[in-house]
Amino acid sequence: MRLYNTMSKVKEEFVPIEPGKVSMYVCGPTVYNYIHIGNARPMIVFDTARRYFEFRGYEVRYVSNFTDVDDKIIREANEEGCSASEIAERYIAECKKDMAAMNVRPATVHPRATQEIGGMIEMIRSLIDQGYAYEKNGTVYFSTRKDPDYGKLSHKNLDDLRGGSRSLLVSGEDEKEDPLDFVLWKPKKEGEPYWDSPWGQGRPGWHIECSVMARRYLGPTIDIHAGGEDLVFPHHENEIAQSECCNHAPFAHYWLHNAFLNIDNRKMSKSLGNFFTVREIGEKYDLQVLRLFMLSAHYRSPLNFSAELMESAKTSLERIRNAVDNLNYLLSAVASDEMTEAEKNKMEQINGFEQKFIEAMDDDLNTADALAAIFDLVRFANAEANTESSRAFIGAVKAEILKLGDVLGLIFEKKEDSLDAEVEKMIEERQEARKAKDYAKADAIRQKLLDMGIELKDTREGVKWNRI
Ligand code: AMP
Ligand code: ZN
Repeated sequence: MRLYNTMSKVKEEFVPIEPGKVSMYVCGPTVYNYIHIGNARPMIVFDTARRYFEFRGYEVRYVSNFTDVDDKIIREANEEGCSASEIAERYIAECKKDMAAMNVRPATVHPRATQEIGGMIEMIRSLIDQGYAYEKNGTVYFSTRKDPDYGKLSHKNLDDLRGGSRSLLVSGEDEKEDPLDFVLWKPKKEGEPYWDSPWGQGRPGWHIECSVMARRYLGPTIDIHAGGEDLVFPHHENEIAQSECCNHAPFAHYWLHNAFLNIDNRKMSKSLGNFFTVREIGEKYDLQVLRLFMLSAHYRSPLNFSAELMESAKTSLERIRNAVDNLNYLLSAVASDEMTEAEKNKMEQINGFEQKFIEAMDDDLNTADALAAIFDLVRFANAEANTESSRAFIGAVKAEILKLGDVLGLIFEKKEDSLDAEVEKMIEERQEARKAKDYAKADAIRQKLLDMGIELKDTREGVKWNRI
């Protein structure tokens, strides 16, 4: 399997640190509002990468953070007259609902910055002790000149950057020794959340959180670090500087970055105001349409959002679902069970579609070509499966379509009935846990349901639930 590594600028053969295992860290959203579909792009493409690794037999440990302390969160809290943690809590819950609705699986761990402050203070202290960081009036900076490798990910010309230094200095940071130095710890301002530290009360900079959480949950060296391409510089460059200077070990072996989701050829972003939230799109479309739309392009190609492309993704999804519906009808209608010799020979073709799918995904996760293999399979199903076919043959064709769809996180068959039964069972378990006063278990079940996209309401008539 080959992956394009931003660090080396070429596709490299993937060799895991530990055979059969993959450790992945994906930078998550800053939670001050509903996520938009630009934010959804890394979620969908790296969830797909994770699913594909699992399909190839790897055990994946997938960590993705929530940035829950940040200027934007504080600003939103001040506007609404509530605390920053209330804002963060609310939008983490909303983000998890959106993820479930897009069939993005919850990470193995979803750490939050505010719960990792101790680890951040410890790493900052270690960087100061080792001479890589310095403190000025309650602010701690990383000294980029002390790191001979600084700039190796983004391949930027540091002299040029330093030459144009004024534009890099944010007001209040004039005390920096070098324009490229960045903040590890900043002193509190009135009305802001803060924590005690050896450098006074304050809060951590943004970059340090990912270095600390990646090390805590995955170790000093990880297989894959990923995020949107706007994170290459400075965020990921700074993460590498902090982690490698502190830990004296390579931080990540492969750096994966998705290109932007654009609208009218401009990056979709909150600050430009040219965004659609996942929630808004979910009101108009099944979010499986959004997922298929995202995967119809290679993750490193810019993707322009348009109603036309969404309609075309919708038609494509319907085409596959109709084929599966037809196979279900045939399964209930056909007469013979056993596969004929001719059908057994045709199974080779099915194998061929799977090989095409694998070749595409092995080539730097080419989901566009992988989808083409699924469409070939669907065409084959429409042409070859009919009332004369055996149940075994139709079952095998259907299973193959569903299996490849699942690797991409696409659901081609509605499983409402079986899901309903599972949900009812979990609700019963929760009620029993509550009766036994095991509230931790009851809460865990409620959260698990939320992750599945099911919301519970405790009413006088009993527990009600609905899909979100
Ligand atoms: P943020 O909350 O802005 O830190 O973004 C969270 C994630 O979404 C990061 O990995 C960003 O790179 C990514 N992201 C933000 N906007 C876009 C976009 N328009 N297209 C693709 N990825 C994006
Ligand atoms: Zn990060």
